[in-house]
Amino acid sequence: MASQLLHHRILHRGTAPASAPIDRRNLRPPTTCAAAVTPSLHRKLRVAVIGGGPAGSSAAESLASGGVETFLFERNTSSAKPCGGAIPLCMIEEFDLPLSLVDRKVTEMTIVSPSNITVDFGKTLMPHEFIAMVRREVLDSYLRSRAQSAGADVKTALVTEIRTPSTTNAPYKVIYTEEGSRRELVVDVVVGSDGANSRVAKAIEAGEYSCAIAFQERIKLPDEKMEYYENLAEMYLGDDVSPDFYAWVFPKCDHVAVGTGTVCSKQNIKMYQRGIQCVHLS
Ligand SMILES: Cc1cc2nc3c(=O)[nH]c(=O)nc-3n(C[C@H](O)[C@H](O)[C@H](O)COP(=O)(O)OP(=O)(O)OC[C@H]3O[C@@H](n4cnc5c(N)ncnc54)[C@H](O)[C@@H]3O)c2cc1C
Repeated sequence: MASQLLHHRILHRGTAPASAPIDRRNLRPPTTCAAAVTPSLHRKLRVAVIGGGPAGSSAAESLASGGVETFLFERNTSSAKPCGGAIPLCMIEEFDLPLSLVDRKVTEMTIVSPSNITVDFGKTLMPHEFIAMVRREVLDSYLRSRAQSAGADVKTALVTEIRTPSTTNAPYKVIYTEEGSRRELVVDVVVGSDGANSRVAKAIEAGEYSCAIAFQERIKLPDEKMEYYENLAEMYLGDDVSPDFYAWVFPKCDHVAVGTGTVCSKQNIKMYQRGIQCVHLS
């Protein structure tokens, strides 16, 4: 069977708009048990999923559940990704997430314009709806452990190189560093879910694409100030906090996550972070 190198961003572009709703209940694991044992290989299909964020962990869980021999590579299993971590209610259902992962169920979410006009789009929520606030390290590690429970071999390892096959039926070689040692794994399929600076994208010469840079701090507030954010998340627009993205103050378990991002002006990210600190602390 011909090896395939898949990159989820490319598949997204090629198959459906990113905003197209996906009903997970109608999805089957991408490969069934029968198909997982490929006749020409006389063994299970072997897949390396590079990147253990939400995309990679979900892919690894589905593959392992379908009987595919699955390896999930994540270079950093402990640090918190600088991501707002606000997730819509539909994601909880779609990904079968336990509510224990949710730090706060927020129903007020304001967007503040550069001229200080505030719109509460929490008003668009139905009475039973909320916006879930999660910490990424909590969500990501849950999804990785679920992939592991489904049978994926989860490796805390940095993938340093992907060697693409020189002939049609040859396998891929994944080179990685694990516990300080250089190792290699031969696989039939590689799934690229390694985020913005994707090594997989480079290996398949996916070309140039733009990506955002983000900065986030976790700030513990005095109780009376934290009370203000009990049920409130804020997003700010304006050149002082980001020329092309938004800045946020999102309440989490015992702190607020304050951050910003930009695509077009990455060198100024610290200045924008100071901007949102000023807005937030004023
Ligand atoms: C500023 C900003 C704010 C955002 N806020 C929100 C929000 O509030 N809510 C929301 O739903 N989304 C938000 N997003 C989007 C969200 O962060 C992404 O959609 C999501 O992280 C994509 O998940 P992923 O699994 O594709 O990639 P990632 O989450 O980027 O995961 C990629 C993983 O691959 C690992 N990796 C990379 N290279 C290697 C390698 N060579 N070897 C091994 N492992 C590797 C990384 O460590 C990482 O864990 C935000 C994005 C930005 C930029």
